[in-house]
Amino acid sequence: MKTYDAIVIGGGPGGYVCAIRLGQLGVKTVCVEKEEVGGVCLNWGCIPSKALINAAHTYEKAHSSFATMGIKVGKIEHDANAMQDWKEDIVKKLTGGVRGLLKSNGADLIMGTATVVGKNRVDVTKADGTVEQIEVKNIVLATGSTTIEIPTFKFDGKQVIGAKEAVSLREVPKRLLVIGGGVIGLELGMVYQAFGAELVVVEFLPNLLNGVDQDCVKVVERKITKRGGKIYKNAKAMGYDKLPDGSLAVKIDIEGKTETINTDVVLVAVGMRPNSRNLGLENVGVHIDKRGFVPADQFGRTNIPNIYSIGDLSGPPMLAHKASKEGEIIAEVIAGHHAAKDWACIPGAIFTDPEIATAGLTEDEAKAKGIEVKVGKFPFAALGKAMAMLETDGFVKVVTDKNTKQVLGVHIVGPEASTMISEGALALEMSAFAEDLALTIHPHPTLGEAFMEAGAHALGAAIHIVNR
Ligand SMILES: Cc1cc2nc3c(=O)[nH]c(=O)nc-3n(C[C@H](O)[C@H](O)[C@H](O)COP(=O)(O)OP(=O)(O)OC[C@H]3O[C@@H](n4cnc5c(N)ncnc54)[C@H](O)[C@@H]3O)c2cc1C
Repeated sequence: MKTYDAIVIGGGPGGYVCAIRLGQLGVKTVCVEKEEVGGVCLNWGCIPSKALINAAHTYEKAHSSFATMGIKVGKIEHDANAMQDWKEDIVKKLTGGVRGLLKSNGADLIMGTATVVGKNRVDVTKADGTVEQIEVKNIVLATGSTTIEIPTFKFDGKQVIGAKEAVSLREVPKRLLVIGGGVIGLELGMVYQAFGAELVVVEFLPNLLNGVDQDCVKVVERKITKRGGKIYKNAKAMGYDKLPDGSLAVKIDIEGKTETINTDVVLVAVGMRPNSRNLGLENVGVHIDKRGFVPADQFGRTNIPNIYSIGDLSGPPMLAHKASKEGEIIAEVIAGHHAAKDWACIPGAIFTDPEIATAGLTEDEAKAKGIEVKVGKFPFAALGKAMAMLETDGFVKVVTDKNTKQVLGVHIVGPEASTMISEGALALEMSAFAEDLALTIHPHPTLGEAFMEAGAHALGAAIHIVNR
């Protein structure tokens, strides 16, 4: 039987980061992965989808902006096969890099499926059926999450698909119906819409991207419909029939009325569920909550002190950077250092077109807490850099406490929102005030100036818009 100080089950952005940090800290560590290191994020989530999104954005810009900018090119065409080959190449480079980093930091990697059989024992079943028994002091559960399937839309891998298949399509569907107007559905739906698919989005709730600042969401909605897409809210996809020509007739209940929408491919994007089943957690009494998450305290500990839970498995928000930060912190905890999860915010980035990014409280959330708010807002349409990029849709919104002027939240929709939000996260971590944003000199001409102006606007002192 092999012995380790720590075993990390799952090699996603939570697990592999934790194992690398444990290795750096001199803790004898093994990481176990049943599919491929990098988890959902590197293999079929964040990175593959962002490669496609970037390709779609470039393709759209070539059509919509090049001529205006005075750039003449020949016929612009899309080659789905070449795009997929390029994407797969990126994935290979990254997963290979992770394997290298684990090794060079002294963490072992075993490929196989791990089962917790005792508080200090994990069995790993390898592809050839052999079982390796491992004795450990600490167990880190980092098994992530899996796409939720709807019983009436069972995945067939071709016409009824989930995100995993949607990032690997080698043919753009003529018509695409997305069930679920959340992050994954809108990001991938807009990719194929940019490449020419007729997009229909069916959302059960009254809003797309529920919980996100709805002023930001409206900008994205407008773009979807401007490109000819249709959005049904308060609508439930009930099931489908296959038509003689091979297409699908999808039945939608829209506020009590049934409509049929014909499509070629259905993407089911109704969320992810945590991978807490078949892990052996019942063998040791690890608590699993009603939704299947394995909750952890601020030190990452489950109800069993030497068993930790991180990433998607430990609860929302299900984001790669949250998983990785938890992985780093829990490694420090296991190494005996003073560390805990005590961040001010977990920023979120949504790679729609345009992008949305958020950090901290929305206006509504602040008001619900009884705080009097003052909002500063600056539109990209008033910014030279955004004009020079031909990307003027959107704005930066800063939510502040009306009395103290402390920054409570930042919400951006527009070009490079995902990059710009880090400044918002830093402002929240440092308990910044609107003055801090407004008085920090931002280089000209940059998109970041919108952030500075939004801070100034909250103080009634924006220069390039009228202060009302
Ligand atoms: C299409 C899509 C796009 C996304 N885009 C973004 C984005 O832009 N930004 C962002 O922050 N997040 C994004 N996410 C979410 C992000 O991928 C997850 O939050 C992140 O991967 C979670 O990391 P994790 O380490 O907790 O789990 P995972 O990445 O799910 O990794 C868990 C790993 O554990 C392994 N495993 C499970 N059970 C066992 C077992 N018993 N034994 C051994 N190994 C096991 C799995 O094979 C897997 O590799 C996206 C997700 C999807 C689906």
